[in-house]
Amino acid sequence: MPGYFIWTIGCQMNKAESQQIAGYLDSAGYQAVDSFSNADVVVLNTCVVRQSAENKVLGTLGLLKGVKNKHPDLQILVTGCLVNSDIQELKRRFPQVDLLFKPGDYPELIAWSERRGTPAEQRLLRYPPNNVNGARSPSALIPIIQGCDNFCSYCIVPYRRGREVSRPRRDIVSEVEELVRRGMKEITLVGQNVDSYGHDLPGHLDLADLLNELSSIDDLARIRFLTNHPKDISLKLIDSVASPNKICEHLELPVQAGDDDILRAMRRGYNLEQYRELVHTIRRNIPQVSLSTDIIVGFPGETEEQFAHSLALVKDIKFDVVHVAAYSPRPGTIAWREYQDNIPAEVKKERLHVIEDLQAAIATEINSQLQGKEIEVLVEGSKGGKWFGRTRSNKLVFFEDAGDWLGQLARVKIERTSPWSLGGEVKNN
Ligand code: SF4
Repeated sequence: MPGYFIWTIGCQMNKAESQQIAGYLDSAGYQAVDSFSNADVVVLNTCVVRQSAENKVLGTLGLLKGVKNKHPDLQILVTGCLVNSDIQELKRRFPQVDLLFKPGDYPELIAWSERRGTPAEQRLLRYPPNNVNGARSPSALIPIIQGCDNFCSYCIVPYRRGREVSRPRRDIVSEVEELVRRGMKEITLVGQNVDSYGHDLPGHLDLADLLNELSSIDDLARIRFLTNHPKDISLKLIDSVASPNKICEHLELPVQAGDDDILRAMRRGYNLEQYRELVHTIRRNIPQVSLSTDIIVGFPGETEEQFAHSLALVKDIKFDVVHVAAYSPRPGTIAWREYQDNIPAEVKKERLHVIEDLQAAIATEINSQLQGKEIEVLVEGSKGGKWFGRTRSNKLVFFEDAGDWLGQLARVKIERTSPWSLGGEVKNN
């Protein structure tokens, strides 16, 4: 059986699409292998949201060029955000690549597979028994909406992934039902802006309707979703998460900056007061909620004072997790056209570390409150002799036990805490 290896970088959408690509390749008779070197087909699922990600993609393409020179039969397939509308230009730049297909453009992948004499399923509504590259997991990522209509000034995604297109509700529900029949315990619905789900479908159902329907599937233990947009999240959705059900009490709510002028320049569509009010509403309705956010430092023109506003926001809100990134200009975006990237790299790096250090202290304090508590953990795998999994609030937990816990709900008494994970002893055996 020819082997395939999928290299994935970037957001949860890419990870979800890699699971789907694995499904198509499995259906065409390919077999997952654990490295480039054992593969007959390599798929690169790319991200170009930041320069560092793009550099990794270009480096990997260079590496594969060398491999292909030695093994001309190797097939190299590239998808993800690198693949924009000018495919001819990409073909010219990367002659070592055999197929370039846009994110979610599976008919192109199917046509490639047919040309190779290995026809794939035409319409895949289920994953293979294993996830990407053979790793077993009780959790699956389900894309529910492609693209984004928001055009935040720094972001390349709408140009690469196009406008929002929701997946039909029936497709999503069938896929989840099939996954659960195969033993999947948790699903995460993903999209660049899941709050927009359904606006383009007949009947205008929304994310809350979809979550409520999926909640009624027997044997499905947990449902997650990401990413929300602070200007679009609805009270109806907050109510759905607040009700006792399978929807986990965790929200990814990217604020991006703590200063109104910067938010305006970013074209985020809300101000600080609205964001703070939203967090207040969420916490009032879902007291046990955990919140993650994204912050960009060093946006063009960001003064020390404006940066201090972001710092003050992190201090005040006390997020569970903050993903912080230094601004990098993306050719083709509004910010790239209109603003000069005038914050020196060392200042961006310094600001990034200041936020990371502050957040580490906040997360230490939040997580230490879990010491001694017994928490339900869905076990996702094992690493270095320890089982690991997540709480409903998305905290990573490790424990040691001789039993087979993969896919089980374990009750773990927390004995150790750190800013990034928890450790403890399993109690339900
Ligand atoms: S909401 Fe903004 S940051 Fe997120 S994908 Fe859309 S344009 Fe990019």
